[in-house]
Amino acid sequence: MRICVVGTGYVGLVTGAGLAEFGMEVACVDKDEEKIVLLQKGGMPFYEPGLDDLVAKNCAEGRLRFLTDLGEGVRWAQVIFVAVGTPSNSDGSADLSQVEEAVREIARHMDGYRIIVIKSTVPVGTFRWVEGILKEELSGVVPFDLVSNPEFLREGAAVEDFMRPDRVIIGATSQRAIEVMKEIYSALYLIETPFVITTPETAEMIKYASNAFLATKISFINEIANLCERVGADVHHVAKAMGLDGRISRKFLHPGPGFGGSCFPKDTKALVRLGEAHGCPMEIVKATVRVNERQRRLMVEKIRRMVGGELEGKVIGVLGLSFKPNTDDIREAPAIEIIKGLLEEGARVRAYDPAAMTNAKKVLPEITYCSGPYEVASGSDALVLVTEWNQFRRLDLERIRELLRAPVFVDLRNVYEPDQMKRLGFRYCGVGR
Ligand code: NAD
Repeated sequence: MRICVVGTGYVGLVTGAGLAEFGMEVACVDKDEEKIVLLQKGGMPFYEPGLDDLVAKNCAEGRLRFLTDLGEGVRWAQVIFVAVGTPSNSDGSADLSQVEEAVREIARHMDGYRIIVIKSTVPVGTFRWVEGILKEELSGVVPFDLVSNPEFLREGAAVEDFMRPDRVIIGATSQRAIEVMKEIYSALYLIETPFVITTPETAEMIKYASNAFLATKISFINEIANLCERVGADVHHVAKAMGLDGRISRKFLHPGPGFGGSCFPKDTKALVRLGEAHGCPMEIVKATVRVNERQRRLMVEKIRRMVGGELEGKVIGVLGLSFKPNTDDIREAPAIEIIKGLLEEGARVRAYDPAAMTNAKKVLPEITYCSGPYEVASGSDALVLVTEWNQFRRLDLERIRELLRAPVFVDLRNVYEPDQMKRLGFRYCGVGR
């Protein structure tokens, strides 16, 4: 099977490499020439554990290659995956311009039957809209089938998630296309992955409903955490005990600075807009978004309180810039928003992240970037742990305390034990404890 993946970002590159690993022949296309040249030379455009090895292996075995010429990919392939970005418009709705551009370009190069698979996260109704564009561009002469196949991988664990997904969603109206999709993912039958074959609209909704639900769990536990702080309860134990109930599950019940990343913030907003467009207000999702935005502001307040009520002139050390560990992605990262808040109030910021500093420098050139956590602590008035990379879980705390100008530790991921931190002589606070 010959597959062309259009868009070689976090999802497209993992999809391309993963499908090659499943035995497909894959050409990954991107309009970003720099990215493609880098990949052709064996480099990686972003950090994702295990992806470099998977890409190198499949390139070496001749199943994976990189192109800038979409026409070449489309003429060569039997199936074309669209994995371009769908960022937010200013009103929160999904910006589908990259999808439209890619689909129109694909159509212009089609010289016979192709299956086009929408992997990007797109609002319900996009399948029919894309179908219309294809019909218009192909004037009914060239046949095609369209499939909705949303992706659920998590950055930081993307390879494992793609190779061992919890489920595969296939939304299509054509039996022929469904059979081809099953063949593409046949390796997953061996590990008994559930396949959900459904209508395009349902497939599109599954993706938004899943992301919105996970985001809601996070906002929910953050609200509970905030109340815990007021009433003297420990959210750590609350979440653990809640999670012991199989109906609730302990996943996504970690209080912190709120959700970020390239998906939850934009997908929740897009679902709110979709509801509005259909006269069906999504009250729970709206609250999820609001609580998340407030959570970041509350984190700045927490830091201000911990340094004595005034941030002006203070030096704040920040550990972790990516929106979560094991990625260099800073899109909507809580750390970035929190740092902006600190700067607005006159603080100076020193920061370190194991992978995201190159990206962070582009949006926050004014802060000091350090070579490690101890350099961050050195001369800071407080140390704030924002992203729970493993290397921040076993810090030499005595050394940190010595390096800090004041022994203030703000743990926005509840990595450390409050009692132990107090014994070590820190003024410590977590979230909801
Ligand atoms: P990304 O921004 O990292 O990558 C998109 C890529 O598409 C870019 O490299 C861009 O240059 C390329 N592109 C855009 N238009 C193009 C065109 N016409 N021709 C060729 N290339 C083109 O985005 P991403 O994070 O990979 O997300 C892609 C989609 O997958 C989004 O809809 C997102 O919501 C969804 N998704 C993302 C994740 C995630 O964790 N990142 C998980 C699941 C689903």
